[in-house]
Amino acid sequence: MIHQIDENKKVIDIISIMPEYFTSFLKVGLVERALKTGLVEINIINPRDFSEDKHKRVDDKVYGGGAGQLLMAEPILKAYEYSLANYKYKNKKHITVIMSASGKLLDSKMAEDISGYSHIIIICGRYEGIDARVTDISGGVEVSIGNYILSGGEIASIVLIETIGRYFKGFMGNPDSLKEESLSGNLGKILEYPQYTKPKILKGKSVPDVLLGGNHKMISEWRAESALKKTAENRRDYFSENNKKTE
Ligand code: SAH
Repeated sequence: MIHQIDENKKVIDIISIMPEYFTSFLKVGLVERALKTGLVEINIINPRDFSEDKHKRVDDKVYGGGAGQLLMAEPILKAYEYSLANYKYKNKKHITVIMSASGKLLDSKMAEDISGYSHIIIICGRYEGIDARVTDISGGVEVSIGNYILSGGEIASIVLIETIGRYFKGFMGNPDSLKEESLSGNLGKILEYPQYTKPKILKGKSVPDVLLGGNHKMISEWRAESALKKTAENRRDYFSENNKKTE
């Protein structure tokens, strides 16, 4: 298949031994639309297809002992090389992300940085993880989506794509939505204010009057105040982070 060279097109290659995880992900919502319009191309590459073992094994015991199996470097690196060879377009800068519980913690800044690359290769681990030489040889960055352990990198990679996609030009229906989300305010990290839609009264609970009044200045003030209150309640740690930045 000959791929058209398009500088703006994002190519995401996901390396995973469980491609079934992505079946519905690719068929719904903004991702489905981006695939249809050609803004994004997403390929799932299965290291098992590159295994030279007659049983197509991709895992083995851990050197030095310890519980469980580890994904072997070779099938993953072959899948990785396949991805590089397929999309070595002149203008495509690639980044390799290895989903890992011991990686750097994903945040919106990191997501925005990753979204700037036009060829994004994501490697998903399983079992006890991946032979460490995959990171060394690919020069990839290990990324964790949170302080907990999942059974595999597939859901983590979906989380990553859902957040980086928001920064792709043309991905969001309304690009302004991005500006008003939590964590993107001028004051530094701040959570979003509470929002309401119809009906005005639900089980005796009314939408705050100020939001129905149409006074934009008052609405902005209420939102700023509520955002601060919410941040103080749920993420007090953001205040000290924001202060550090302005010192
Ligand atoms: N033994 C590893 C955990 C392996 S979990 C450890 O203690 O660090 C198996 C796979 O799930 C990992 O290789 C990784 O790809 C994925 N995974 C688990 N938790 C994750 C997290 N918080 N963020 C990103 N990927 C994660």
